[in-house]
Amino acid sequence: MLERGEVANSWRRERWDSLRLLTPNWQSRLPGLRYEGPDPDGYMTVGEVTHFIEHFAKVSHAPVRTGVNVTSVRRADDGYHVTTSHGEIHAEAVVIASGACNEPAVPQFHDAVPASVEQLTPFDYRDPAQLPDGGVLVVGASATGVQLAAELRRSGRPVTLSVGEHVRLPRTYRGRDVLWWMDASGLWDQRYDEVEDLTRARRLPSPQLAGTPERTTLDLNALAAMGVELVGRWAAVRDGHALFSGGLRNVFSLADLKMERLLDTFDEWAKTDGFEAEAGPLERFAPTRMPESTRLQLDLRSGEIRAVVWATGFRPDYSWLDVPVVDTKGQLRHDGGVVDSPGLYALGLPVLRRRKSTFIYGIEDDAREVIGHLTRYLAVRR
Ligand SMILES: Cc1cc2nc3c(=O)[nH]c(=O)nc-3n(C[C@H](O)[C@H](O)[C@H](O)COP(=O)(O)OP(=O)(O)OC[C@H]3O[C@@H](n4cnc5c(N)ncnc54)[C@H](O)[C@@H]3O)c2cc1C
Repeated sequence: MLERGEVANSWRRERWDSLRLLTPNWQSRLPGLRYEGPDPDGYMTVGEVTHFIEHFAKVSHAPVRTGVNVTSVRRADDGYHVTTSHGEIHAEAVVIASGACNEPAVPQFHDAVPASVEQLTPFDYRDPAQLPDGGVLVVGASATGVQLAAELRRSGRPVTLSVGEHVRLPRTYRGRDVLWWMDASGLWDQRYDEVEDLTRARRLPSPQLAGTPERTTLDLNALAAMGVELVGRWAAVRDGHALFSGGLRNVFSLADLKMERLLDTFDEWAKTDGFEAEAGPLERFAPTRMPESTRLQLDLRSGEIRAVVWATGFRPDYSWLDVPVVDTKGQLRHDGGVVDSPGLYALGLPVLRRRKSTFIYGIEDDAREVIGHLTRYLAVRR
């Protein structure tokens, strides 16, 4: 196992200070290791996640070689030729577990933002004190965007949040964590070959969830109540103005509708699986409130906005992979983790084999199946 940094590198280097997992502690599970602390329904801090993964590396005796950067993987006659910062390796098979979120995905027009406005990605951001005083424009309303918008607003800054397509979820539903429902109803276990539109499912943004001790819902209504101004999707920069799309009402309705449908699925499952009596009373949530007026543009030179935080998602980095298995969108071509090149495998990508694949909790089932394929491949070769 080659790791360019330290064990749990992404959690040490690429997360902001206040982040907690959005998955509850009981879902922090790796093969043979589960959370056994006093607060199974709480959410781990970044430090706790790092410690958890470090502990797993120790107890599982994972043969990790840290500080080894893989700079190239090439096909060889009988496997793969791997070039690293510490020499060459020949491997019969290679598992790509380099992560789905190696770099922030920022729209091209960021280079038209006036230089007077500071720009940060979630990889640069640590805490609100790092930003210049004044207004902040947070771009993207998925898990990262809503969490950073709330933190920046609480620090006393005027915050504008640019909202595109998003996944709205309540933190708790009928007395349980909403991710408990995803798990118990079997939705998170839905397999990749059963998902209707797999390409879309793999591109779905993260849900609007935050892990806080209070277990509060952090949807757009909550943010608006805190004083965050909502604007549409940021479409372009023209003459120093940020231009936002006007379809906010539709974006809200779609997210509300999808949430309703999901809650209906949970209710249906509770009825058919005999959980109805145990579950709390039925709940429905107020539609996302449309602001009285929404701005369609914002003058970035006026001084109103001093910083932009791009919470527009992440993408993998395969610049070191010299095998033609990456598509034009920069995604690996694979079938449930079996890459389109014999002996090459992947783990830890969105909906790799199940809906839960990118979560810590999802790796166990995926790894068992992918490694099963790999061992059969090696056995046949030998
Ligand atoms: C902001 C954020 C919040 C998240 N919150 C949650 C959550 O609440 N719950 C949850 O379950 N999941 C969450 N996730 C997803 C989480 O990242 C994964 O669950 C988990 O960290 C994935 O582990 P991984 O090992 O697949 O990828 P990573 O954690 O990305 O690890 C990949 C490793 O590969 C190394 N690497 C990459 N390229 C090379 C190379 N060329 N040579 C050598 N080493 C290399 C990297 O240094 C890194 O350590 C979150 C992700 C992000 C970005």
